[in-house]
Amino acid sequence: MIDLHTHSNFSDGTDTPAELINKAHAAGLTTIALTDHDTVAGWDEAQEWLRPGLDLVLGSEISCQTDDGISVHMLGLLFDPKNQALRTMMAATRDNRVGRMHKIIARLTAAGYEISMEDVEAELSDGATLGRPHLADALISKGYMKSREEVFAEVLHNDSPFYVAHYSPTPEVAIAHIKAAGGVAVIAHAMSSLRGRVVSPESFESYVAAGLDGIEVFHRDHTAENRELLVGVAAEFDLVTTGASDYHGNGKLNQLAEFHTAPAEFERLESRANQRRVVRATKR
Ligand code: AMP
Ligand code: ZN
Ligand code: FE
Ligand code: FE
Repeated sequence: MIDLHTHSNFSDGTDTPAELINKAHAAGLTTIALTDHDTVAGWDEAQEWLRPGLDLVLGSEISCQTDDGISVHMLGLLFDPKNQALRTMMAATRDNRVGRMHKIIARLTAAGYEISMEDVEAELSDGATLGRPHLADALISKGYMKSREEVFAEVLHNDSPFYVAHYSPTPEVAIAHIKAAGGVAVIAHAMSSLRGRVVSPESFESYVAAGLDGIEVFHRDHTAENRELLVGVAAEFDLVTTGASDYHGNGKLNQLAEFHTAPAEFERLESRANQRRVVRATKR
């Protein structure tokens, strides 16, 4: 079973990469992608813990924003982590997440919540990409709410008055950077209306022109109608279709392997990278 979208505590997942790899073995996965938000910082630890029977696809979920302000998540997989332009792009987004967090905290403080940047940083692992889930964890630690789900539903969702976007590249720019680094680009949960406004089916033409390789179709946030529409878009543009859990450890309900990618689709996807970069364990 192939799961091409998961998070560790190098972003807003709650498992270490080592725990994630162990759980992937236990769940019977044969291939797992590690796709922390805007970073490759967890790659080394994940590789270190790999054992035979599980293949590792290294990647990142790149935050993007369209010119009209719609948030898009682009999975970059199998790219060269040394590519400087891609590294710089991810670093810029991580920097912007810090200023953005200060703004969200200021809005919450103005509304009477007693919460500080230090409280949020206390929830963040060393070297991890900062995100709203860490703020959610801080609000939970302070007793304001009980779960990330509850915090997002009440104060942190994208249409909330407390919501602030962070600078991110457009989907086209992110795709171009992933492709220039030899990787493949798969648009994540594109029709998930839980996250605010979503892109129109027409916008895929421009993503394909930029080099888009695949569409994450099978994801818990997609309805049957969403999936049907995306399967149609994939067929129209000869794109790969994937499925994945978007596992975040205890941070979300999503369970490893709850959605997966067909082996033939994964082969098509891998063949679009400029090198064989799937990591296979050689020891342990
Ligand atoms: P950010 O990257 O800071 O904009 O925060 C977005 C992250 O929050 C995404 O990775 C989502 O997985 C996570 N998220 C969004 N909604 C929820 C929710 N209802 N419960 C838990 N996590 C969520
Ligand atoms: Zn996340
Ligand atoms: Fe996402
Ligand atoms: Fe994700």
